[in-house]
Amino acid sequence: MSSRLSELFVRTLREDPVDAEVASHRLLVRAGYIRRQAAGVFAWLPLGLKVRRKIEAIVREEMANAGAQEVHFPALQPREPYEITGRWEEYGDLLFRLKDRKDADYLLAPTHEEVFTLLVKDLYSSYKDLPLSIYQIQDKYRDEARPRAGLLRGREFTMKDAYSFDYTDAGLDVSYQKQRDAYERIFTRLGLEYVIVQADAGAMGGSRSEEFLHPTPIGEDTFVRSAGGYAANVEAFTTEAPAARSYEKLTPAEVLSTPDTPTIATLVAVANEKHPRPDGRAWTAADTLKNIVLGLTHLDGTREVVVVGLPGDREVDMKRAEVAFAPAVVETATEADFLRLEADANTPSLVKGYIGPWTPTGALLGEDSATGIRYLTDPRVSDGSGWITGANVHGHHVFGLVAGRDFSSDGTIETAEVLAGDPAPDGSGPVELARGMEIGHVFQLGRKYAEALGLKVLDENGKLVTVTMGSYGVGITRILAVIAEATNDGKGLLWPKNVAPFDIHIVAAGREDVVYEVSDALYAQLTDAGFDVLYDDRPKVSPGVKFGDAELIGVPVILIVGRDAAEGTIELWDRRTGERTPMPVANIASALR
Ligand code: ATP
Ligand code: MG
Repeated sequence: MSSRLSELFVRTLREDPVDAEVASHRLLVRAGYIRRQAAGVFAWLPLGLKVRRKIEAIVREEMANAGAQEVHFPALQPREPYEITGRWEEYGDLLFRLKDRKDADYLLAPTHEEVFTLLVKDLYSSYKDLPLSIYQIQDKYRDEARPRAGLLRGREFTMKDAYSFDYTDAGLDVSYQKQRDAYERIFTRLGLEYVIVQADAGAMGGSRSEEFLHPTPIGEDTFVRSAGGYAANVEAFTTEAPAARSYEKLTPAEVLSTPDTPTIATLVAVANEKHPRPDGRAWTAADTLKNIVLGLTHLDGTREVVVVGLPGDREVDMKRAEVAFAPAVVETATEADFLRLEADANTPSLVKGYIGPWTPTGALLGEDSATGIRYLTDPRVSDGSGWITGANVHGHHVFGLVAGRDFSSDGTIETAEVLAGDPAPDGSGPVELARGMEIGHVFQLGRKYAEALGLKVLDENGKLVTVTMGSYGVGITRILAVIAEATNDGKGLLWPKNVAPFDIHIVAAGREDVVYEVSDALYAQLTDAGFDVLYDDRPKVSPGVKFGDAELIGVPVILIVGRDAAEGTIELWDRRTGERTPMPVANIASALR
């Protein structure tokens, strides 16, 4: 609906909000699209709502094209369904939990798998009813640890979440593909660059899972790509374990003095200086086995200390560790963890800076060892590989410690950071790394939710079968910010035409009556012609301020009505190119079309 700026509920700001780290956040607040209510919670003003509705309209069209029907669920949900699937606990601190006056537990839904499953169970009982795809556009609540960057990571945000229901695996593949195709169309229509990457299935359970990431340096996800077409979130990257090697001919392990070497760098330097390799090649960090002590908090609240062994040239990637240890919460071991270990008289202490799985008197790490501490190793620590690692004696390391011969672990784990040049697991060559922002996610949930909540239908043979499901999310409000981020020109927002809050922004630039007479007529004419027009009709505001606001608000086509209006000429300002072209005011509507 066309609007006069003098009447529109908006106030543009000269100053950047103090908490804004990224351009989209800064500009959306300054241009009067959103206002902060609390950390990660925003109110929407008319300009913001208009853009949001346009994005939603595109999403709705493509959902319809994919055969999905719209429904709507409350954000407020009872605990029970989430209790049954385990997510009431698994979500941990991320969940907003609340109580009603009768002391019953509720939550503000972070996502709606459970209740969609129950609704279908309520209504459907036969294979003839399937396949079914339903979706909603709804607010989600997550008490994010680091709400940041405005709409990019909110604690209240809008998601389009779709769910598919099939009774065969092949059916699920078809439903999944339809949503995946719809996502490609949505992001293409929105002009958003995206990469489809393999993703970790995480807390959702299930099998096939892909994310749509928008490549951007401010993204919180890291993904890898190979020239041969492999693409994955590092959270889902798998390391090829080197083949086991024979250790028959390897020399025995030897404890050597390495004074003042609590770090990998100092260890490598001292090793090369005091204990050079017999074959003349220099020791590198990759020859060392680094042992990192982590603290896990399990779902039942118990605390466990585990040690992860990985090549010394790599850090632990905490996001990969989170995935590897989920649903336990993982962090580096705290002082309290170490004190607790020490308080146990039966547990030999870990010598910080010199921790290793082995001591001359027996295994130190591992469930069957003296400490009983779970020891998990990187896939590169394969049988027959030899390492320099801590001897658990201050100032000493053991050289030539061979996996499988001298020590073993309780299993392998993917916690090491992925580095550029690492081989893609599908053999398609070395990978490169980039940052991205997740804008969509498609999941094959499989039968996890249907099983837990008892969603079954009768198949062709009258046999009860468990339904198989998919879940498909797009972050509507995040997408809005990602578009703003990708298209702004520093001076202001600069929307693509199909989501801009208005088609045309008229600026009445001048004090002369004729300027307003021509502008008024133009506003009426363009509105009648079907354009959605924003008209800056403020009589007491200078042209300079109006131009600044026009740039900030970001409508891509601006018409400047100035002094030449008396001669029937106005200016077309194309924000994208910056060009200002004089145009006859007559027939402007058809010219713009
Ligand atoms: P992230 O890894 O960024 O936290 P997620 O994997 O937890 O996201 P999903 O549960 O897959 O998110 O949600 C589907 C979509 O919802 C995401 O692809 C993203 O576009 C959007 N989304 C998720 N969390 C937020 C948030 N806190 N603020 C805004 N949008 C979000
Ligand atoms: Mg996701």
